[in-house]
Amino acid sequence: PAAEVILRATGLAVAYGAVEAVRNLDLEVAAGEIVVLLGANGAGKSSMLNAIVGLSPRVGGSITFEGHDITRKSTEMIVRSGISLVPEGRRLFSNMTVRENLRLGGAALGLAEFEREFERLHDLFPILRKRADSQAGLLSGGEQQQVAIARALVGRPRLLLLDEPSLGLAPIIVNRVFEIIEELRRRKVTILLVEQNAERALKIADRGYVMSNGVVEAAGRAADLQTSAIENAYLGTA
Ligand code: ATP
Repeated sequence: PAAEVILRATGLAVAYGAVEAVRNLDLEVAAGEIVVLLGANGAGKSSMLNAIVGLSPRVGGSITFEGHDITRKSTEMIVRSGISLVPEGRRLFSNMTVRENLRLGGAALGLAEFEREFERLHDLFPILRKRADSQAGLLSGGEQQQVAIARALVGRPRLLLLDEPSLGLAPIIVNRVFEIIEELRRRKVTILLVEQNAERALKIADRGYVMSNGVVEAAGRAADLQTSAIENAYLGTA
């Protein structure tokens, strides 16, 4: 029997004024899965992830998380309900320290609880111990990406949304990011991943959706998606 679906978007639409970024999109993520969202630049992937947490303008459809309708909830309520986003470009507060950045991710936690969660993340992200009091803006891109992921994890989300986590990173650091994603799966964090590196993402994902011009062009098991569908989506809209 398939695992329980925890995230379900039905007929989702996102528009920026007259620009329809996502149209009539259906997407499901089951507990424990890694699901990847692929597609060319501008296909609507970031708009889709942001819509889940209420950060892009949803103009139609609905989203449920663990059976609760979150379509019209505030971002804060959605995050508190157990979904975290690691945004594209990491968006750390560069003048704040690593610890302060994580504190913001765990703003709903009491201080003692925060310290416990911060400690708990040290084995996955040794950088947190080494650079806890460094200004986030002084870290390398790969280190910043790890801090951004850790910040999203500190509130113990059950669903993690990752927007292009490997973008702009050196190959060896990209490997590390993919290792972290696989380790998170072992730790029972469900993941919805947007990635430009389709080949790499499909190797670790269970299922995938290929978006093109705001709609899902292909969907299925990751192993079955390693075909022309993806090439079409990337090359067809170039
Ligand atoms: P990328 O990998 O480049 O981020 P994407 O697949 O994530 O691409 P989106 O960023 O979701 O795509 O963009 C989808 C469409 O919406 C594009 O046409 C884009 O120009 C448009 N768009 C995105 N954000 C905005 C915004 N804030 N205002 C207006 N249009 C936007």
